[in-house]
Amino acid sequence: MDFAIPDEYRELTRGLSDFVDRELRPLEASELDQERDDVPVGLRDRVRRRSAELGFYAADFPEDLGGSGLPQLGMVLLREAAARTGCRLAAFATYGPEGPTGVLLSGTDEQKKRYLAPLISAERSMCFALTEPDAGSDAQNISTTATKDGNEWILNGTKHFITNGKHADYALVFAANDRAKKAQGGITAFIVEAGTPGYEVGRSQIGMVEGEGQYELVFDNCRVSEEQILGGPENAGMGFYSAMQFLAMGRLSIGATCNGIAEYCLDLGIAHAKERKAFDRPIGKNQYVQGHIVDSIVELKAAKLMTYDCAWRYDHGEPVIQESSIVKLYSAEMVNRVVDRMIQVHGGMGWMRELPLERIYRLVRIFTLVEGTSEIQKYIIAKSVGL
Ligand SMILES: Cc1cc2nc3c(=O)[nH]c(=O)nc-3n(C[C@H](O)[C@H](O)[C@H](O)COP(=O)(O)OP(=O)(O)OC[C@H]3O[C@@H](n4cnc5c(N)ncnc54)[C@H](O)[C@@H]3O)c2cc1C
Repeated sequence: MDFAIPDEYRELTRGLSDFVDRELRPLEASELDQERDDVPVGLRDRVRRRSAELGFYAADFPEDLGGSGLPQLGMVLLREAAARTGCRLAAFATYGPEGPTGVLLSGTDEQKKRYLAPLISAERSMCFALTEPDAGSDAQNISTTATKDGNEWILNGTKHFITNGKHADYALVFAANDRAKKAQGGITAFIVEAGTPGYEVGRSQIGMVEGEGQYELVFDNCRVSEEQILGGPENAGMGFYSAMQFLAMGRLSIGATCNGIAEYCLDLGIAHAKERKAFDRPIGKNQYVQGHIVDSIVELKAAKLMTYDCAWRYDHGEPVIQESSIVKLYSAEMVNRVVDRMIQVHGGMGWMRELPLERIYRLVRIFTLVEGTSEIQKYIIAKSVGL
């Protein structure tokens, strides 16, 4: 493996940083309420569309659908670069759960053109509706049902914690066509357009940081045509399999974002350790303070290398089930440790809302929970060695 980052990726990440400095930082200063966590929906959409125009937003999707065919190594570098800026609007410069999901690449040509392409150009947004009140980690155990009725299917059940659930133009909904079969042919993925009778947005679920927004989605005798099955009618029962194929992309994305956030916070900590004086000398002269910074540098370096390695292997067609779980587990836990330490380095100021660390501390707590909890990543890694 070549450990040097190719020049074209360096240019790409420089381009993204320039975009953030030139367009997003001024917008952040003029349009965001610093007292609030949330970013208005219209502003998020504006940033996404502009980023798509510039070729950053969903660069890893195929060119014939409007992406640039960027390999995952380039995409993780882009995500890391966006998060490293510390600009809150930069979080929308690359796609999240509202944007294109690799799972839609399992769709028919017609579905890809109709549903995936507008997500890549950020003209539309979606939501990924898998989790239910009684089935999170154990996602195969969903109880939302899909019952066949002629050429149609009827969906019944409730999803929760669905990011962008309220604003999505369509939902990718996972439902059990045969609960006994679970992942082995028992779960079907449907593309359901918002506004379809029986598709209701339920209550809003507010968390530690009000970001994209999580919602319940309720399906009450919601009728969809069999053409809405991801991959077409012959793909009934294959929904879980389609989703599993693209897990690595999601885990890599989270890893890269965690690494970028950790680097931003570490830079703040290093600068503060040099400037802040106590006992007549910079606090960074004290070995206990250095320890917080050095441990963070070492862990961040390890996290970045394992993320790049996994992306590189993915791009070379290797199976990365174990590697992507290692990346997700390590980076998500690492960023929580790093932010915690950098708050410690800042002393009481680290706890104050005047600095970004307080919000980031709350924000990063999500990363050990979504896209498979840390415990589930450990389960996958243990399984990969035959345990
Ligand atoms: C902010 C946010 C956004 C989200 N966005 C979406 C979304 O857009 N779409 C979507 O479908 N879902 C979404 N989710 C749901 C998320 O994926 C689940 O919360 C997650 O998978 C965990 O499921 P759970 O909350 O039901 O926890 P549970 O599965 O109940 O787990 C509880 C605890 O038990 C542990 N545990 C469970 N099983 C095992 C096991 N076999 N071995 C060891 N430990 C285990 C878990 O690790 C955890 O610590 C979101 C969640 C949040 C908080």
